[in-house]
Amino acid sequence: MPTLDPWFAKAIVIIASIVMVVIRAPHGQRSRGVPVVKSRKGTLEVVLLTIAWLAFFLPLLWIVTPLFDFADYPLYLIPLAAGVVCLVVGLWLFHRAHADLGTNWSITLEVREDHRLVTDGVYRHLRHPMYLALLLYALGQAFVLPNGIAGPSYLVSFGLLFALRVGPEEALMRERFGSEYDAYMARTRRVLPGIW
Ligand code: SAH
Repeated sequence: MPTLDPWFAKAIVIIASIVMVVIRAPHGQRSRGVPVVKSRKGTLEVVLLTIAWLAFFLPLLWIVTPLFDFADYPLYLIPLAAGVVCLVVGLWLFHRAHADLGTNWSITLEVREDHRLVTDGVYRHLRHPMYLALLLYALGQAFVLPNGIAGPSYLVSFGLLFALRVGPEEALMRERFGSEYDAYMARTRRVLPGIW
């Protein structure tokens, strides 16, 4: 199978990163205006968030510097195409989750003033569509990027953040919404429809 120029991967990753930032920016700005009434932003959460941010930018470092060149491998069409599908679906879901969550969104574990439990839209069947979106995005990046370090960096770091955050986040939501969240939990899954 013929190999492709790595610039295809570089262009796709640059575009996907820009789209992600453009989707988030207005929601981030809007949420900053809503006071936080409860926060669980402990040391672990800060460390995990920092690692995830660094890992998000690592592919951009791979693009502009020769730092990770030693871990490059050839790029083929099938993983590239699979990666693009994951990125597109991930970014669409990221946009939908932000739209549905509105100002109830936080980058970390927080309850905001007048926090409403969102149970419709992409939250109807899944409790963590935004995390699913980011996992898909991270998987897409791992497929698209022909580099053993920059490729899976976000998948590993976000996977860790997700694994360690999802339990405490649900505990926080149960604390805030009580039986309403219990009922929501009973009829939904975490990230895989019908499975988990
Ligand atoms: N875990 C969700 C939300 C990510 S944003 C997802 O993956 O889609 C994280 C913040 O969203 C948490 O601090 C929590 O306060 C809030 N949150 C999580 N689920 C929510 C829901 N169903 N309704 C309202 N806020 C929610």
